[in-house]
Amino acid sequence: MSDPRRSETMRAFRLTEWQASPALVEIPVPEPGPGEVRIKVAGNGLCQSDLHMPELPPQMGEILGWQMPFTLGHEVGGWIDRLGAGVSGYEEGQAVALVSTRSCGSCHECDSGFDNACDMNQRGRGYGMNGGIADYVVIESTRPLIPIEKLDPKLAGPLTDAGTTSYHGVRRVADKLGPGRTALVIGAGGLGGFAIQYVKILTEARLIVVDVAKDKLERAKALGADEVLDGKREDLAAEIMTLTEGRGCDAVLDFVGSDATIANGITVLAKLGTYAVIGAEQGKLDMPLMGALGGKNASIISFVGGTDADTRAAVSLGDQGLLRNDVELFDLDDAPTAFDRLSKGQIAGRGIIVP
Ligand SMILES: [Zn+2]
Ligand SMILES: [Zn+2]
Repeated sequence: MSDPRRSETMRAFRLTEWQASPALVEIPVPEPGPGEVRIKVAGNGLCQSDLHMPELPPQMGEILGWQMPFTLGHEVGGWIDRLGAGVSGYEEGQAVALVSTRSCGSCHECDSGFDNACDMNQRGRGYGMNGGIADYVVIESTRPLIPIEKLDPKLAGPLTDAGTTSYHGVRRVADKLGPGRTALVIGAGGLGGFAIQYVKILTEARLIVVDVAKDKLERAKALGADEVLDGKREDLAAEIMTLTEGRGCDAVLDFVGSDATIANGITVLAKLGTYAVIGAEQGKLDMPLMGALGGKNASIISFVGGTDADTRAAVSLGDQGLLRNDVELFDLDDAPTAFDRLSKGQIAGRGIIVP
């Protein structure tokens, strides 16, 4: 690894001030301190949330404890490049994916297995701290390291975020999805595409997928959906009830979260079912909650991201070659272009920045 940049500077796509576009700049290659590890980035997946970070008002950044400047990118795969003093159990050159969330491992939420709800996760790699859209990134401990064997580290990033959140959703409802049960996935984009695969891998349920885009429904079929339905049809809820012989769906995973998808998702929920809202469209439920759910003994859950264990499970499935992960690759020098195309909805699958 005789990279001339190594002891000098590197490229980093960063926010340098509040409410301004990110820029590709040259900064010194970071040195790992005691307990830290430097990763040579193979690929960093782009996320919709990256688009919102430049819009944050400074007050919000202060509340979250974010400090300018910082490098974007929270979906990292790469190779261990240098171990800080006192770090053992890992080798330089080892291929790894990094857990994208940041957690302490000892608070009530972490102890309960919900480290995605840890207070420490208000600020992390790529959101308030230096992230992976760069040649190198330094991590503060070995806690996020997931060794990978067969998976190309360049492609691992999306599994640590989109692939993790959707894994968490399916895992939370998997106990409802035995043989003869039905799962409904609303929204077959990046997260939904992974969820379709997890429902098929982890459960024996039949799977219905709803989306408004024809190409996404075709992809959903290819990924294993048993039935696909156009989300624009007026009789959507009635059609789902017909398909389930009037029982409804035992688990609904809503990756859109709009007024319409929430209303439909709750309406078609079966007795004892669970409706999970994951999509961030901030829809509202315009019906009496007790009336909609009480007679069904149904429940509603919501969450942001997945846990450390979910990431390890998702990366493991990827490492075994069991996941389809559609990506488009961009050179690090083209990060501004990739960012622009993401904002215009012009990237099919997940965009990955490759240094
Ligand atoms: Zn993300
Ligand atoms: Zn914690």
